Amino acid sequence: MSKYDVAVIGSGPGGYVAAIRCAQLGMKTAIIEKYNTLGGTCLNVGCIPSKALLDSSHHYEDAVKHFEEHGIEIPGEVKINFKKMIERKQGVVDMTTKGIVFLMDKNKIDVYHGVGSFKDATHIEIEGEKKETIEAAHTIIATGSKPSTLPFITIDKERVITSTEALSLTEIPKHMIVIGGGVIGLELGQVYRRLGAEVSVVEYMDRIIPTMDGAQSKELMKVMKKQGVKFHLSHRVSAVERKGDEVTVTATNKKDEEVTFTGDYCLVSVGRRPYTDGLKLENAGVKANERGQIEVNDHLQSNVANIYAIGDVIRGAMLAHKAEEEGVLVAEILAGQKPHIDYNLIPGVVYTWPEVASVGRTEEELKEAGISYKYGQFPMRALGRSRASGDTDGFVKILSDANTDEVLGVHMVGARVADLISEAVTAMEFRASAEDIARMSHAHPTYAEAVKEAALAATENRPLHI
Ligand code: FAD
Ligand code: NAD
Repeated sequence: MSKYDVAVIGSGPGGYVAAIRCAQLGMKTAIIEKYNTLGGTCLNVGCIPSKALLDSSHHYEDAVKHFEEHGIEIPGEVKINFKKMIERKQGVVDMTTKGIVFLMDKNKIDVYHGVGSFKDATHIEIEGEKKETIEAAHTIIATGSKPSTLPFITIDKERVITSTEALSLTEIPKHMIVIGGGVIGLELGQVYRRLGAEVSVVEYMDRIIPTMDGAQSKELMKVMKKQGVKFHLSHRVSAVERKGDEVTVTATNKKDEEVTFTGDYCLVSVGRRPYTDGLKLENAGVKANERGQIEVNDHLQSNVANIYAIGDVIRGAMLAHKAEEEGVLVAEILAGQKPHIDYNLIPGVVYTWPEVASVGRTEEELKEAGISYKYGQFPMRALGRSRASGDTDGFVKILSDANTDEVLGVHMVGARVADLISEAVTAMEFRASAEDIARMSHAHPTYAEAVKEAALAATENRPLHI
């Protein structure tokens, strides 16, 4: 039987990064993945394919709607080859997942393909093409999550679908009804809207992306409405029915009236659930809570001392970079180091266009916590860079402590803010004040100037360009 210092179950961004860091620190490491490809949700059916389709559909939209204003004329009609678009996406996925195989090789990590399950706290059975058992002094559970649904919905994977199917459709929907105005619903809703589908978002709460700052919800909804997406907020979905190629969604609105939506596809994007099916946690004595999350302490250690868990399968934001940080943290703890994660500084991004990005506390959270704060906001439309590219929607908003000026939250909507948010994360990691950011030179012309201007506005209400 092969023996390891560490076995990692699951090869998503949490698992494969944990394995690499363990190997870097000198531990004999194995990784177990039930699918044929490595990379987990993120690389196969999550972050990477969704961004590939967002980029392709963005190019199409630019060609149809914006080339002309730049003086670019395309003789004849611009057409979509949807099959090719999906094939390209798959090509990007394949290239990226192969990259993980290379990384496993490079770091001398043994890869096992098959479903991993606990025989006891130190033995894992792997059921793949053959059945084998390995011994591991430590195990890191990184089995991730699966789409969740509502009790009355049958996901038939043809017309009533999750993000996984929405990334590999064979036709462009005529009318896609999206249940849930969160990250997945908006990113994939925007893809299909750009490609010509009618898109109706039915959301339970009174705003979209409800966990982000309220100003972002408003701005993104305003822009997406202009793009033609229809929003139905404060709607409680009660039934989803498929008849042939038609799907009917029934919901109750704020006035307690029943409304129905009829389309040819229904995307169910109401969140994801931690995934531990088949792990046989009971054989190792590992506890999960009522939401199915493996319970961990601050060191991400489960109730069984040699078993840890990271990523979507534990509490916290379901984000690839959060899972990665946790993978590194556990590896370093196992090596006797003292790593730390500041969960308040894990950024959140929605990759619509304009993009939405956040770090730290929202205005709503500060109000609720009774923290007095200052506020500075700068609109993208006032930037030379935005006018040059034509990306004038959005803003940067900075919230800083009323007494110390320490930056408490940064919330952005606009072109490339997914990249801009890193400046805010860096500043907040170093506990910068808004004035610190305001006094740093920002290259001109860039979108980043909006960060400086918002900081100036938060510091002394003295932005320069508005
Ligand atoms: P996962 O990536 O889910 O990986 C878990 C792996 O474990 C899977 O490969 C699974 O097959 C394997 N596994 C499970 N059980 C077993 C077992 N018993 N034996 C062997 N293997 C097993 N996050 C971002 O930060 N940015 C984004 O842009 C983004 N976009 C997304 C878009 C979509 C459409 C979706 C669905 C998600 C997106 N996410 C994004 C979320 C991100 O994908 C997850 O947060 C991330 O993948 C979690 O990583 P993980 O390692 O915890 O688990
Ligand atoms: P989400 O939590 O982002 O959004 C779910 C939405 O559905 C919420 O707005 C919620 O209010 C709504 N909802 C819940 N129940 C409902 C009901 N009965 N009727 C109508 N609406 C209802 O979840 P998601 O969009 O499914 O994404 C799942 C996870 O994947 C998220 O945690 C997210 O972090 C991750 N993800 C991240 C990215 C990214 O980082 N860009 C992209 C995609 C997915």
